[in-house]
Amino acid sequence: MSPKAAAKPRRSRRSKKPGVTIADAIRLLTEEYGPFENEPRLDPAHELVFTILSQHTSDRNSERAFRNLMHTFGTLETVAEAEVADIEAAISGGGLARVKAPRIKDVLGRILDLNDGSLDLHFLAEMPMDEARAWLRQLPGIGPKSAGIILSFSLGMPAMAVDTHIFRVSQRLGIIGPKVNADKAHEVLEAAMPPEDVYPFHAAFITHGRQVCKAQRPRCGECVVNYGCPSRDEEAIQQAAANAAAEQPEPATHDAADADRPDGQAPGRRRRRQESPTAVPHTQVVKELQP
Ligand code: SF4
Repeated sequence: MSPKAAAKPRRSRRSKKPGVTIADAIRLLTEEYGPFENEPRLDPAHELVFTILSQHTSDRNSERAFRNLMHTFGTLETVAEAEVADIEAAISGGGLARVKAPRIKDVLGRILDLNDGSLDLHFLAEMPMDEARAWLRQLPGIGPKSAGIILSFSLGMPAMAVDTHIFRVSQRLGIIGPKVNADKAHEVLEAAMPPEDVYPFHAAFITHGRQVCKAQRPRCGECVVNYGCPSRDEEAIQQAAANAAAEQPEPATHDAADADRPDGQAPGRRRRRQESPTAVPHTQVVKELQP
């Protein structure tokens, strides 16, 4: 056989159809990282401002900027009346303050215009979700992800919010196709699962993207859904299996609970702890704002 014929098949020949269902992925990832609790969030207008502050910056920086904004102005109504330069100074610890300050001022002003001078957005929870989403999306700088965050986390609606981790993991697992962009992914994913699965999906996929299915070097060998992933790295899986075998020479004893695991992983495998509480990083800020 020629060396060419003996070469491993190219990855591009592999089917990109998902071999793991969304329901199984949620279940396995929740077993791995969960349970996930929908923690209390900010009220919708505060959540909206926090979402703007969290764009293109770390959780820590956005929390710092938000805390200082509220410490400086006290209420969002005062922020809405403030000079852009003063808002910029208040949020300077969060990055991109020059861009975000006028955006915050604009969005608050637009809400006041559209909502009879009020920043109370709880009325959105009474609307059909598509209408509530459309209402938010007419605001400057509010795209499908920001709208999804406000509807889902602040108002408890089953809206999808697709961040970079969720998008990447969904594409790698073949749940969304390679031609689906991030905006379209919201629609595709929301339609692909029942409303009650939206939050568990969000929490499970974002955590998996942060901890294992990383952008640069996914740890496919440690991944609990690698059995059905069309993007998996076979070498990483084999290497991880070899490492595990070297560490644990004694054959493990299967019990009934492990026997039907679709991932084929060794029983007794240690469950991974969450490094951070998924997409709800600002619990402390919420507590501080509560009367
Ligand atoms: S097998 Fe690899 S690429 Fe696929 S979901 Fe798991 S970590 Fe990501």
